[in-house]
Formats: sequence, C-alpha cells, structure tokens
Amino acid sequence: MIVVDSVRRLLRAPPGRLCCPCRSRCSAASATYPSAGWVRQTFLRFFQERHRHQVVPSAPVRPRGDPGLLFVNAGMNQFKPIFLGTADPQSDLARYRRVTNSQKCMRAGGKHNDLEDVGRDFYHHTFFEMLGNWSFGDYFKEEACSMAWELLTQVYEIPKDRLYVTYFGGDSSLGLSADEECRDVWLGLGVPPSHVIPFPLRENFWEMGDTGPCGPCTEIHYDHVGGERNAAALVNQGNSDVVEIWNLVFMQYSREADGSLRQLPQHHVDTGMGLERLVTVLQNKHSNYDTDLFTPILDAIHKGCKGPRYRSLVGEADVGHVNMAYRVVADHVRALSVCIADGVYPGMTRTEQVLRRILRRAMRFSSEVLHAPPGFLASLVPVVVKVLGDAYPELRRNMDQIINIINENEAAFHSSLLLGQRIIDRTLQQMGPSKLFPEIVWSLYLNLGFPLDLIGLILEEKGVRLDLAALEQLVQEDAKRKAQTQREELERSGLHLNVHLLAELQQGGVPATDSSPKYAYELGQDGRYVFSPCHATVLKLYKDQSFQTEVGEGQCCGVLLDRTCFYAEQGGQASDQGYLVRLGQEDVLFPVESVQLSGGYMIHKVIAPETLQVGDQVQLFVDEAQRLACMVNHTATHLLNFALRRVLGDSTQQQGSHVTAERLRFDIRTKEGVTVQQLQEVEAVIQELIEQNEAVYTAEVPVKLASGIQGLRTVDEVYPNQVRVVSVGVPVERVLAPDSTAAVHTSVELCCGTHVLKTGTVQDLAIISEHQLVKGISHIIAVTGEQAKQAREAGQSLAKEVDILSARVKLGSSSIPEMQRLSKEVGYLTKVSAPFHRRRAPGWLVF
Ligand code: ATP
Ligand code: MG
Repeated sequence: MIVVDSVRRLLRAPPGRLCCPCRSRCSAASATYPSAGWVRQTFLRFFQERHRHQVVPSAPVRPRGDPGLLFVNAGMNQFKPIFLGTADPQSDLARYRRVTNSQKCMRAGGKHNDLEDVGRDFYHHTFFEMLGNWSFGDYFKEEACSMAWELLTQVYEIPKDRLYVTYFGGDSSLGLSADEECRDVWLGLGVPPSHVIPFPLRENFWEMGDTGPCGPCTEIHYDHVGGERNAAALVNQGNSDVVEIWNLVFMQYSREADGSLRQLPQHHVDTGMGLERLVTVLQNKHSNYDTDLFTPILDAIHKGCKGPRYRSLVGEADVGHVNMAYRVVADHVRALSVCIADGVYPGMTRTEQVLRRILRRAMRFSSEVLHAPPGFLASLVPVVVKVLGDAYPELRRNMDQIINIINENEAAFHSSLLLGQRIIDRTLQQMGPSKLFPEIVWSLYLNLGFPLDLIGLILEEKGVRLDLAALEQLVQEDAKRKAQTQREELERSGLHLNVHLLAELQQGGVPATDSSPKYAYELGQDGRYVFSPCHATVLKLYKDQSFQTEVGEGQCCGVLLDRTCFYAEQGGQASDQGYLVRLGQEDVLFPVESVQLSGGYMIHKVIAPETLQVGDQVQLFVDEAQRLACMVNHTATHLLNFALRRVLGDSTQQQGSHVTAERLRFDIRTKEGVTVQQLQEVEAVIQELIEQNEAVYTAEVPVKLASGIQGLRTVDEVYPNQVRVVSVGVPVERVLAPDSTAAVHTSVELCCGTHVLKTGTVQDLAIISEHQLVKGISHIIAVTGEQAKQAREAGQSLAKEVDILSARVKLGSSSIPEMQRLSKEVGYLTKVSAPFHRRRAPGWLVF
C-alpha cells in the first residue's frame, strides 16, 4: 500500500472522474471512472517520473521515409533507425535510452490491416492510440515486466486475477528454446503459474519485416468476465471476453536474408498497449465503444441521423447492422480526422487510396444503414476534435480543413457513383448483357475508387456475370507490378549497411564520415563555382553483406572513406555522382554511382575497374555540372517555397520536395487550389529575388537556437542537434537575433542541402506543371536556368498551335473527318502543352 500511495503521490493528478454514462452493462448509476485523458497522462507520467523515461511526441501517422509502410502502425516505427543502427549519431534519436509516448496508429492496410474487423468486434479500430515504453540498449526483460505489472496492478489497480500473461514457447525448427527467462520473471512477480501461458512463434515472436530486428514477446491479456473462473484457455482465441491489452517485445535477434536468426549487437525493449482497450478495462466496460473516447461520437451520430440508439449489439442480434454502422462510422471519422490533420488525404496513391476506402466505407454505412443526410460525416468532426484535441492539438488546428476535405470527397463520391453507373450502363449496352467485363470493373475500381463489392451488386442486379478469373488476373498483375517497384526500391538501397555491420563500425571506433568538404566551394571572379579538391583514405570496403580488405576488378562495392566531398541522398536532394582515382594512378577512374548515408557513415557505390584496397589513398571528383545543377535547383526550391507563402499566405504548408539536376518538385498543402494567376505571381517573386542577386548565407547552429527563429517553418523531419540554417539575403547571425523577423520577410530554412552562393546563379525559373493528385496538395514541377527559358519558348509555340487549331475547329470550316482529326490533334497538343499552358485562363479548351 505504501508503494501505491507513493506512486499516486508521484503521479500527482487525481483521476479525472466521469459520470457513469449508464451503458447496458453498468448497473452502478453513481459509479465514477477515470477518464481516458487521465489514463493516457498517467501512463506517460509513470514512465517519466517513476522510471526516468523521456516523453517523446507521437509521430504523424504518415511514415517518415519508410516506403514499405502505408501508415505508422506501431509506436516503434519512429524508432526503427535505432533498432537498425542507422540513426544519425548527431540526432537525439541516437541518444535515446528510455523513452515513452502515446503514438497515433493506423491499421488499415499492409502487414497490419484490421479494417475488416472494425465494426464487427468491440476492440479493433483502424485508428487507435498505442501507449509505449522503450529501452534502447538499457533495461531488458525483468525491468520491463515489473514496470508493466506495477503500472497495471498498483497504479491502475487492475485486479491481478483478471490478468493473464503469455510468453514464447520456443520453436524447434529455428533452434529456439522457450523464453523461460521471461516466464520466470512473471512467476517471480507473483503471477500464478495458471496465468502464465506459453505460445508458439505465430503469437509470441515479433518481427518487424521479412528481415531485421525481431524477438520473443510477452503479452498481457485481460479477462472481462472474471469471477472464479480460469480463462487461460480463452487467451488468443479471438474471444471478446479475453482481450490482449499490452505486448512487450524483446528485440534480441535479427532475421537475416537467409532466414536465420542472429543475436543483435544491443538488446532493446519495445512495448505497446492500446489506450482504447485499457480505458475499457478501467471504465469497467466490455466494449471500447462504451468509453468516453467513443460515447460522445456515438451520441452525435444518433443526433445526426435520428435513427435508433446505439445498443452495443453484435452479430445476429444486430438486426440491419445498425450497431455495426455506428461503430464503423465512429471509428472511421476518428481515422479520417487524424489522417487528414497529419497530411494524408483521401486520394489515388497507395496510402491515400486506403483513406479514400475508409471514407467511402463510412459514407456507405452512414447513408445506406443509418440513412444520414448529406454532410453528416463531416458534422462529427468537431466531436472528434473535442475528444482527442487536447492530446493531439494538430486536430484542433486543422479542423476546418478536415471538414472541408470530407465534404468535398463526399460530393466527389456521389458524382463518381453516378458516373460509374453510367459507364456500366453504357458498357452493357455496347457489349450486350451476357458479356463479362473485368477491365472496366478494374478501371472503375482503380480510377474512380468505385468499391468492387458495389460494382458486383450493380452487375448482379442487371443479370451480368463478372469474369472473376480475369479480374483476379488483373489484381495479380497489379500486385506483381507493385512488388517489382518495391524490389527496385530495395535494390536501390542495396548498399545500406545492416545492423551488425553498423555495430561493428561503431564498436571498432570508426568515426562517422567527415562530409564537410561537400560544402567546400566558392564563386570565382568569372562567376564560375570552384570546388575544392578532396583527398581521402579508404577505411572499409563492403560487399556481399560483409567488410572486405580488397575488392577485385569489375566488382560492385560500397566504399567507406574517412572524408568525402560527395553529397549523399538526403533532405530531398539527389545524391552526387562522380569518380575516385587512386593517388599515383590517375588514369584509372573508379566511378561513383550514388552515395548513401547510414548511421553517420557515407557509403559510395563504386564499380571497381581494378582492385581497390583498404588503406588506399584516393582523390575524389564530383560531377560538377550535375552538382551545380542540383545546387541551383535546391536554392530555387527555397525561393519557390518562400514565394508560394508570400502569394498564397501563411496557411500553406510544405509537404515534400525533391531536387535533381534536371528539375525540382515541390508539394504544398493549400486550403484552396492554386490559380494560374497565383503561379504567375509566384514566378514574378522568384524572378525579383534572382535579379537582386542576393547572397545565400549558411551556418551550422544548435537546433535549439534555430528553433527559436521567429516565423521559421520546419518540415516533418527528425533534425540533428546541429542544424544548417540557409538564409537568402540576410546573414544567419542577424536571422538568429532575438527579435529578428527575417524569417518572415525572406527565405530561411533548416536544410542540409548544397546551395548556390548567389541567387543570380539560378538565372530563371519556370513552373512547368501544377496539379493536385490529392485534393488539397499541389505538386509543382519547375525547371531553372536555360531549361526554364526553353520551356517557356516551347510552351508559347505550342499554345499558338493549339489556338490556331481550336479556331479552325470552332469555325467548323472543315469536313467531319477533318474535324475529327483536328479535334484529336488539339487533344494531343493539349496534353503535350498542358504544363506550359497552366498560365492561360481556364476554359480555353471549350469549343
Ligand atoms: P490483436 O491480436 O488483438 O489484433 P495485436 O497482436 O495485433 O492485437 P500488437 O501488434 O501486439 O497487437 O499491438 C499492441 C497493442 O496494441 C495490443 O495489445 C492492443 O492493445 C493494441 N492494438 C493492436 N491492434 C489494435 C487495433 N486494431 N485497435 C485497437 N487496439 C489495437
Ligand atoms: Mg492485430
């Protein structure tokens, strides 16, 4: 009891009290429960104050630089570089030992996909909050289990006899014995043997992916029924009475490409507990939907559609799926709100497509089952914001936009439904009702987001049988294409050092690569950029997943040098290319195809024309033309960012960018679409900055100092402790002065890229395309210098041709076949010239 009191005192906050919402299973009208807010706070404080963990904010649900992942689906996602050993040694990430957080998670696609369960049961959501604590090379099994037990039984006061724990029971095929260490920890904590249950690999061995860190886990399950019974037999049986609440993973192995397991250089703990499930336990409910995280939303649904009340029914008892519809809508509107606030909009690309599916599923349940009026879904958003806004203020900040996007998508869905109907009708007329048409179905599904099940229904009504085998083939082909893209992505990163090699480097005292020479260039008298020479020593050669002392002729390898002037792909700027020569043997070039950064080490991908050895002295030659073009385009990207903000206002937000030698792409989140006139104004602002030939200042400063810059806008990235400030026209010291407003009036960004020294080097910038793949996010493509001039000229001459052709078509002076030909030609030219034509008034194509 003394411990309990001291923990309570430590946590200070008295439990927030909720009046009993009088749900079906609750008889005590006067009962009070801890609120979800208190439960969340208590978790974080327990680990922070009692066990010295650092509280880390939730990462956005859009994954940062993890192409294999659709959404953040576990608390550990943002810490993956630590597990892989690839964290930048200069970043906070590399210094984390004990951290805790409450992470926004989505499980609606990819490896973890609970979408189909949502609504059918009481405890699977698409969006949920995962409470977690982590040890990175710090404590391990004993402390992790005892902290979890202390929190659940002493702080939250969950009766011990309702809890069951599982541990890994071993796997003979992998040569892994049972995790008896974990079992003994639980027994030592006083958990009775009848509540400690072994499970095989499938349940109790956690893997991040096909390869990479993994290890046994131990789960804590809660029996909602309790009493005299022993519910051990119901654990992991998909029974809603006995539900997993917490999973503690012990990362101790790494799954290798050949399927074998190797000990990790460092052991870690990674835990995750679903807040919604925990709150259900603490509020003495049986369903997550009966807690204060959901009841306000369910009430609002009732008010909005005026149908029968929610009654917590499932399965056959839920006649007409009304209760399921309540759960689906409540779940999905939370998911939509959180995703949109984090910049994932319903759309056509992978992740966006999943969100669009969620939105359309919510709409169909709202209108078809709950008979809700138009605009209903968006009307629930303020309630979601009220429930979750304190924990995730970005919801509050973006509420209006969430509402707009949901409403716009609702309208688009209705019109695409009508369009889909028309396409189906027309196709049926053309093909005859007996024909099968998988391609059309596939295109409706992919291009219009028309749900496959709905297409099936319409076809059924019309007595048409769909060729499912042909449709399946299209699905397979699509999956194959996607897998191919993924493979290519993997190949591209084929020279990434794995966790063991990174640990070998770190433990062997190999210092991070000194890449400061990449910034060593100046502007000569003649206006040309002069790049300083750079010499280096080969420290390691890497091939076939291991370090070698030499690589032979014709072999592709990774070369680690003590220093480099090459730029590795990062911050949206493409990697440099070039070559190395061995000192004293200048006639043999070792081409550098690309450069990658991992854990502070820069790996140069080289195809060796001759033997190369560790210890060789080399001189580095960057392809200067390509580098300069990247520098021009990177600075131009900063100018574009600034100009867009000036023209469109402060509510715009950079979503991403990519800079290559050929062009730059800039993605921006805007409330409204961007007009042609605004794009012209943007170009004019940039032109002015170019003409003024402003100096581009850069300096490295501590991130804490830089984050104090008034008006500075950062992107969603993990910044190292030392950041580079890039400022146009105002020296960095002046930008950093306490009351400076420079960042409002000029371009100031935190950026590790390489930049020109004067804006005049950019010469010119032409926006060659602007389009919205996803509503609310504009993708802008621009070119600079000579290319910009050429683009402008090409655009003008194409526009002229289109005008002439349009006029001829309008006059109708030609014969019908001639008209058709002209019409086609106009269409073709329109496509070709579209990027250059954006600057014309809309509607010019109507004839
Ligand atoms: P389940 O078997 O119940 O689907 P899981 O094994 O997929 O759970 P983990 O991946 O171990 O769960 O995630 C850790 C914790 O996150 C779980 O113990 C649970 O509390 C919570 N959780 C997982 N998936 C969901 C979900 N879809 N909705 C709500 N909470 C979830
Ligand atoms: Mg699951």
